[in-house]
Amino acid sequence: MPVFTKGNRLNSILPIRCPRCHKGKFLVHPLSQIFKITRVREQCDHCGVVFKIEPSFYYGSMYIAYALGVAIMGIVSILYWMLAPNFSVLACFAWVVFSLIAMSPFLNGYAKIIWANFFIAYEPETADQNTND
Ligand SMILES: [Zn+2]
Repeated sequence: MPVFTKGNRLNSILPIRCPRCHKGKFLVHPLSQIFKITRVREQCDHCGVVFKIEPSFYYGSMYIAYALGVAIMGIVSILYWMLAPNFSVLACFAWVVFSLIAMSPFLNGYAKIIWANFFIAYEPETADQNTND
């Protein structure tokens, strides 16, 4: 069930669904299986769009992962600065590193779906069709 208006990219990004139809699964394994590497499916199981546009396509998602990592670093640093009774740069650094390691599967998965949304547009007519019928 989409939360935002139809065609809004957040309907694809937040639940990690196909950028074209917003219904098919994008990753092979759900992010809840954090010890599995976040692999992208070959194509959408709902509309059939090919997710791997070219070889090594998702290397570009590292730029997105970097930006998300910097955002997490900033948020964790500010939270530590606000909540810790005695500020320590070393402890703040440890919290940042721990947070980035703990959230790395989510960073990787969200970076890939955001990257795919740059190149695959939403097509409302594909949301109603199903290639498996
Ligand atoms: Zn699809």
